[in-house]
Amino acid sequence: METGTACTEAEKWEFSMNSENNRLSTFKDWPFDDDCQCVPSKMAAAGFYHIPTDQQPDLVRCFVCYKELEGWEPDDDPWAEHKRHQPNCDLLKIMKNHKSLDEITVKEFLDLECKRQQNRTKAQIEERVKEFRQQAARVRGQMELL
Ligand SMILES: [Zn+2]
Repeated sequence: METGTACTEAEKWEFSMNSENNRLSTFKDWPFDDDCQCVPSKMAAAGFYHIPTDQQPDLVRCFVCYKELEGWEPDDDPWAEHKRHQPNCDLLKIMKNHKSLDEITVKEFLDLECKRQQNRTKAQIEERVKEFRQQAARVRGQMELL
């Protein structure tokens, strides 16, 4: 009898983004250097990992709330931007009581992981709804031509 579903590689990779070092390792081609506020170490500490695309070379995502941000400026502070765009992120709530993610308790980690899973599912559903709407618009356009 099978008791569970195996994780996909994508799910394992996203889980690995719980680690600040793993998030940091995604910033290989990050366009901002030491003279900037939004350097890779601060980006990773603020919960972000780098998911560049051809059109969005500075696209990042929070590993907890799944908010995606782009259009970074050298003086942008990663925590301040995170708070401004996603004030209800659970990572921000937990970090009010800690200086670093290394200090959080096991219970806080498990709470964050639970929120991450919920937000991941929500982001996937929103993506599918978007795809469905685009497909529906295409079909509607084709039907109008009949
Ligand atoms: Zn967040």
